[in-house]
Amino acid sequence: MTQPAPLIDQFSRRITYLRLSVTDRCDLRCAYCMPERMTFLPRKEVLSLEELHDMALGFIARGITKIRLTGGEPLVRRDMMELVRALGRKLGDGLEELTMTTNATRLDEFANGLADAGIRRINVSLDTLDRAKFENLARRDSLPQVLEGLAAAKAAGLKVKLNTVALKGINEEEIPDLVAWAHGQGFDMTLIEVMPLGEVEEDRFDHYLPLIPVREQMEQRWTLTPSDHRTGGPARYVDIAETGGRLGFITPLTNNFCDGCNRIRVTATGQLYACLGGNEQVDLREAMRSADPETALSDALDVAMKIKPERHHFVIDRPGGAPALARHMSMTGG
Ligand code: SAM
Ligand code: SF4
Repeated sequence: MTQPAPLIDQFSRRITYLRLSVTDRCDLRCAYCMPERMTFLPRKEVLSLEELHDMALGFIARGITKIRLTGGEPLVRRDMMELVRALGRKLGDGLEELTMTTNATRLDEFANGLADAGIRRINVSLDTLDRAKFENLARRDSLPQVLEGLAAAKAAGLKVKLNTVALKGINEEEIPDLVAWAHGQGFDMTLIEVMPLGEVEEDRFDHYLPLIPVREQMEQRWTLTPSDHRTGGPARYVDIAETGGRLGFITPLTNNFCDGCNRIRVTATGQLYACLGGNEQVDLREAMRSADPETALSDALDVAMKIKPERHHFVIDRPGGAPALARHMSMTGG
C-alpha cells in the first residue's frame, strides 16, 4: 500500500502538529480571552468523541506526529479522559507526542490519568500568584485549585510549562517573581503577548505589554543566554543562569516567527483553521459526516495545505482598535 502523502503547505512548510480544541467552554473567564457572558458554540454542532477520535486518526495517517488537546478548557469536557486514553494508544504508532493545554483547575483530579494515558508534558496557563489578582483577571476565585492542580501534575511526573500572558498594569511587576517561582518548582515558562482575538469587555490596548522591555528588565537582574531549544512554534527561548530554568517569549506583535510554522488548528465543531491569525478555513465536520469520511478528510487536508497563509497580521497599535479576528482564542484552541 502506498504511504499517504505528508502535509506540506504552499510555502514548503511540513505540517506535523495539530492543536485540537475539544470544547470552547471554560470554567474561567480570563478577561483578555473572553467576556463574562460568552456565547459558546451550539452543543449540537460539537463533534462527538468518536468523531474527534476518528478525525485525529486521519491526521495521524497524514503525518501529524504531535497532538495538543486544548480549548476552551479541555478538562471541562465530560468524556475527555476517554479521548485522552484512546489517543494515548496511538503513541508509538504514528503519534509521537500527546499533550494538553489546561488552566489546571481540574488537574488535581486528572493528572494521574493523563500520565497513565501517556501524556508526558502539559502547558498550564497561569498569569499571577496573587489570589485577588487572579480572581479579578479570571473572574473566578480559583487560584487554590490551580496550585493544587500544579502540585498534582508534578507528583504525577508530568513536565509542566507555564504560559503567562504579559499584561500591563496587571502582572507586569510580578513577572520576574513568577519566573523565579516557576523555575523553583522545576517548571519552564513562556511569556506571551496578548493578541487581538475576539471581542472582550476591555480594550486590549490598555493591557498590551510588548515583551522587549520585559526582557530588557530581566536582563538587569539575571543572565539570559539565548537557547537553541525549539518546538517548531513561535516561542524563542533563553536559559536563565541564576534560576536554572528556561524562559520562552512568544511575540506575535513585536516579532513575527511564522516562517517555520508547523501547525494547524481544529475547533470543537471540526472547523480547521490554517492559521491562528487568519480566517482560512476548511469544514472537516462535513468531511467526517460524508459517505467516505477517510477520503473526504484527506482531501480536505489537501485543501488546507493550499490555503494556509504565509503569516498572520496582528497589530495592537491604538486604543479602541477592533480585534484582528472575531474569533476568540478559546474557540480556535490556544
Ligand atoms: N483553557 C486553557 C488554558 O487557559 O490554558 C486552554 C485554552 S487557552 C485559550 C490557551 C492559551 O491561550 C492560554 O495560555 C491563554 O492565556 C491564551 N490566550 C487566550 N486568549 C488570548 C489572547 N487574546 N492573547 C494571547 N493569549 C491568549
Ligand atoms: Fe478559559 Fe483558558 Fe480562556 Fe482563561 S485563557 S478563559 S482558562 S480558555
